Amino acid sequence: MDNNVYDVIVVGSGNAALCAAVSAREEGLNVLVVEKGPKEKRGGNSFFTDGAIRCAYNNLDEMRKVLPEVTDEQAEKIEMPVYEVSDFHEDLMRVTKGKSEPSLANKLSEDSFETIKWMYKQGVRFDLNENQYFDQGGKLVFWGGLPLKTHRKGMGLIESLFNRLDELNVETLYETRAIGVQQENGKIVGLNVENKDASNSLIPAKAVILASGGFEASKAKRMKYIGEEWEKAVVRGSEYNTGDGIEIALEAGGKKYGEWDGCHAHTTDYNAPRVGDYSKPGDIYKKSSYPLGLIVNKNGERFVDEGADFRNYTYAKYGKETLKQPDQKAFQLYDSQVRSLLRKEYDLKEATCIKADTLEELAEKMGVEQPVFLETIERYNQAVQEGDYNPSIKDGKQTVGIEPSKSNWALTFDQAPFYAYPVTCGITFTFGAVRVNDLSEVLDEQEQPIPGLFAAGEMVGGLFYHNYPGGSGLMSGAVFGKQAGKTAANYLSALKEKAK
Ligand SMILES: Cc1cc2nc3c(=O)[nH]c(=O)nc-3n(C[C@H](O)[C@H](O)[C@H](O)COP(=O)(O)OP(=O)(O)OC[C@H]3O[C@@H](n4cnc5c(N)ncnc54)[C@H](O)[C@@H]3O)c2cc1C
Repeated sequence: MDNNVYDVIVVGSGNAALCAAVSAREEGLNVLVVEKGPKEKRGGNSFFTDGAIRCAYNNLDEMRKVLPEVTDEQAEKIEMPVYEVSDFHEDLMRVTKGKSEPSLANKLSEDSFETIKWMYKQGVRFDLNENQYFDQGGKLVFWGGLPLKTHRKGMGLIESLFNRLDELNVETLYETRAIGVQQENGKIVGLNVENKDASNSLIPAKAVILASGGFEASKAKRMKYIGEEWEKAVVRGSEYNTGDGIEIALEAGGKKYGEWDGCHAHTTDYNAPRVGDYSKPGDIYKKSSYPLGLIVNKNGERFVDEGADFRNYTYAKYGKETLKQPDQKAFQLYDSQVRSLLRKEYDLKEATCIKADTLEELAEKMGVEQPVFLETIERYNQAVQEGDYNPSIKDGKQTVGIEPSKSNWALTFDQAPFYAYPVTCGITFTFGAVRVNDLSEVLDEQEQPIPGLFAAGEMVGGLFYHNYPGGSGLMSGAVFGKQAGKTAANYLSALKEKAK
């Protein structure tokens, strides 16, 4: 190391930070990682994920480059529709209502598969995503452009990236909270941190990559920026993502960017822990099969179109809608026709389930307004139209004449036994952050790069608005993290050149 000065300090130990640290080290830089939490709580939100990771791809053969264990025999039984860069881009634009910053959206979709291959090279392993196909007569038919998952979910991802950092001799300082960057003559000269013993110190460095997530774990910031009702949201992931890195970037002159009153949220088991529990990772509390069923609130009324789209495109929005209901509570309802089609999370012992043989009994056990509930179901059943039911496509089997309608997968709700799963809203991450360009440079109010300051992951503002296509959070962290390491190296080479 040059006079005990790190080339780059990476703030955070989630996916974006670790990809940035590996990439910077690959470029030959001296890297230090600083993490606010203790070692046993490292990995940020990334640790808690299901590991679903969205990328563009041409065909199964290409995918098999990162899925070597899929045999020819298995491949014969897989139908994986192409998902091109333009499909990923279109999905991003569609769910963000055209607001995703174009250069960031291009970067994410264009670099996605190349980055998956790079992650594989670093030791990250992938599996076929068991939640993204239907078995049709022995053929696994994938849908929704999300066939990959990191092996052993977020846990496996974080473990592999830390293994790689160990191989590369990159050190991590735990219980070390970044509190500011030190700038001199317009350049970064170090990172100010609060140490475990509450003392403050300066760690000298020539560049800083901020990858410390959003502000979803700060109740005060949630209420201030997203809305008062967010006080009661369950925090689905890391307790440490309180927006420190965003504040650091803004204080250093960065531009506030993106949808500050927006966030990603998900329907979550009503009895889930109030903040991510590190002994129960893997995203086990979400409840995602609602397009196949109905959703009612405590009053017994429906309030969203459960079948508007595949769950990847609606779950963020519907989590938010649940928070607006009495007691922030809703019930997902399924009858025995669809119960076997539900995702695995409904079978876990952690899933709160109410089962009944009649609708009256179900209403009583749920504690909802029985007459309203029964009327809701009756009106719904009468509104269901004939049609071919097919959960692997948007089948157009819908209701007519009720509000909200159910646009796809509308079966009558009448086959006992009946099941109700109480849910609430869990916040995943916030959308408002900092202006960052496609080189992962933090930009100032004039949209000029702040020398030596980079950001990745949830800290990149302007990519997601309203909603996001599921699996894009991890992909974004990897794409912009990898890029941040590379851009930091280019920045340091240019500095060296100048000094000659
Ligand atoms: C339950 C759950 C399931 C999810 N499932 C998926 C999924 O399947 N697919 C997908 O794409 N996305 C998923 N997401 C979203 C995904 O987790 C995020 O988009 C992504 O992990 C963000 O990565 P990141 O590296 O930016 O942040 P994080 O992984 O949250 O990392 C931020 C890190 O910064 C640290 N930190 C914070 N402040 C400081 C500070 N001042 N100093 C030092 N360190 C600090 C934190 O402790 C943490 O380690 C899920 C999220 C949750 C909560």
